[in-house]
Amino acid sequence: MSLRYLVTGGAGYVGSHLVLALAERGHDVTVLDNLRQGHRAALPAGVRLVEADLADAAMVDAVLADGPWHAVFHFAALSLVGESMREPFRYLLENATNGIRLIDACTRHGVRRFVLSSTANLFGTPETIPIAEDAAIDPGSPYGESKRMIERALVWADRVHGLRSACLRYFNAAGADPGGRLGEDHDPETHLIPLAIDAALGRRAELQVFGTDYPTPDGTCIRDYIHVSDLARAHLAVLPLLDHASRTYNLGNGQGASVRAVIAAVGEVTGRAVPHRIADRRPGDPPVLVASSALLRAETGWTPRFPGLHDIVRTAAAWRDAHPEGYGD
Ligand code: UDP
Repeated sequence: MSLRYLVTGGAGYVGSHLVLALAERGHDVTVLDNLRQGHRAALPAGVRLVEADLADAAMVDAVLADGPWHAVFHFAALSLVGESMREPFRYLLENATNGIRLIDACTRHGVRRFVLSSTANLFGTPETIPIAEDAAIDPGSPYGESKRMIERALVWADRVHGLRSACLRYFNAAGADPGGRLGEDHDPETHLIPLAIDAALGRRAELQVFGTDYPTPDGTCIRDYIHVSDLARAHLAVLPLLDHASRTYNLGNGQGASVRAVIAAVGEVTGRAVPHRIADRRPGDPPVLVASSALLRAETGWTPRFPGLHDIVRTAAAWRDAHPEGYGD
């Protein structure tokens, strides 16, 4: 059955992979995106784009009024940990205000299901790895804090208005659509895997390794890289559960890779060494973030199709190789 979905930030990196998954299943998708980071070319034919900012309350209201929506997926946000450490109030004001305003509009227009792109960054520096859903919340940056504020707003949206939500706490989204239709194109690019690939392909002078004195086996930070298409499928997997109750899940592969391991994998996949140099730590980076996705797996049956780092890097490298200018916009 074709259902109507609203996806904020649906022209962005993770959002566009969900939009593709919805469109492939025959659903009717509307994307609300200001195209500051998103790309029109990332949207499949037949998907409606409303080019607007979530700060435009009247526009958000008008879009929500044009329902009914089977679910709203909320991706649109500023999303850089390092930037948020320099501009904390921009993050707190924009992300939290926009998210809470959207939730308010959803409650007024009878939306029953809401899925939030949340983040592992709200665990700060966790004591136990892998990180389960009941780990202590202590956001590692204003970015993580802004997502926490939206999670809390969703608690009240459920209690007072019965809006059921899933908060998906992403670990490190990586890779690209295995069909080669979508990829990662940020401006500026700050993420490890695309930067390492560009350095290997000679499109960037060198990769900086942010710190080699962390308490990890090789001294570099460990992250849980999860394939972006697996991340997208998890959004579909949680929807049926929202008929009963709100949910919160940690969403990762369940295995960690250090910065040095990523550099090695990129070297092996591209057949070229990654030129790199050691640099200072980046503020806000915890040493190790690895998810336990046991709860999500048990409750939805979801499992990643691309759990291997080399497979993730291979899809990312194929897209960057085929799209040297990204989406070209
Ligand atoms: N990183 C790095 N050099 C870069 C970009 C990232 O060493 O140019 C490291 C960063 O410190 C972190 C890991 O790679 O430990 C992943 O960073 P990314 O920005 O990709 O994702 P984040 O963990 O911030 O969401």
